[in-house]
Amino acid sequence: MRFARFLLGSSEQIGLVDLQKSVVRPLGPAVQDMVQLIVNAAELKCVPADGEEIPLEEVQLLAPIVPRRNVFCVGKNYREHAKEFASSGYEAGAIKGAEIDEYPAVFSKPPSTIVGTGDDVHLHSHVTQSVDYEAELAVIIGKAGRDIKAENALDHVFGYTIINDVTARDRQRHHKQWFLGKSLDTFCPMGPWITTADEITSDGLDVKCWVNGELRQNANTRDLIFSIPTLIATISAGLALEPGDVIATGTPAGVGIGFNPPRFLTAGDEVKISISGLGTLTNRFV
Ligand code: MG
Repeated sequence: MRFARFLLGSSEQIGLVDLQKSVVRPLGPAVQDMVQLIVNAAELKCVPADGEEIPLEEVQLLAPIVPRRNVFCVGKNYREHAKEFASSGYEAGAIKGAEIDEYPAVFSKPPSTIVGTGDDVHLHSHVTQSVDYEAELAVIIGKAGRDIKAENALDHVFGYTIINDVTARDRQRHHKQWFLGKSLDTFCPMGPWITTADEITSDGLDVKCWVNGELRQNANTRDLIFSIPTLIATISAGLALEPGDVIATGTPAGVGIGFNPPRFLTAGDEVKISISGLGTLTNRFV
């Protein structure tokens, strides 16, 4: 199943997306909140398969979920990206020959960064001159748990979506941590919807990113250094994950700082990200 949040006129709704018919079926006024829907996931079999159908082109898709707390994010989780980041000069404290971490690097982005597909991302040019894109597979947690074992971790996954982990590289470098550079308003485009875990296998998905139609990132999630079960086990160690928590799993090579000189985003640029089975996330930078 694919669950979308959308606006129809001024009415915010949640619905089931039918890709074959290119329509969305509203779940009605009883289902207003995606986190609550995930909490009640056991009742999803009650979702009506028929009912009103609205053409997707008539709705404005919103970010499929705004989690109750920060988005968990993983850095340097593809080998070639870890190398391009270390050699870019934008990684504070980078050590040559030690680009691949022994443990996952985890940081977060506040919910205030989240926007949907089609929304503008602000360049904040008074704050930064080095805005970069990062195409990423994001995991939506379904079942709460602390100290989750890797072998059980996928039981805790509700579904998947796409995130653009937009980054101000100068802020990332200057402040010697990643929170500020990752957390500017609108810096977390997410969407277009949540695809439930039963629909896809998460370890063989193509991740592609285009800037103004030019293919920049082209990788596969089987190349993740730390797998999704490892990430869930790591993050949930002593920290209870909750339904609706989001984990962005890291970006592959091909970001702007991977070029020499770097190719940062400028006003009017369009970034489009596609992941197999999850759809396409498109945003313009202004
Ligand atoms: Mg990232």
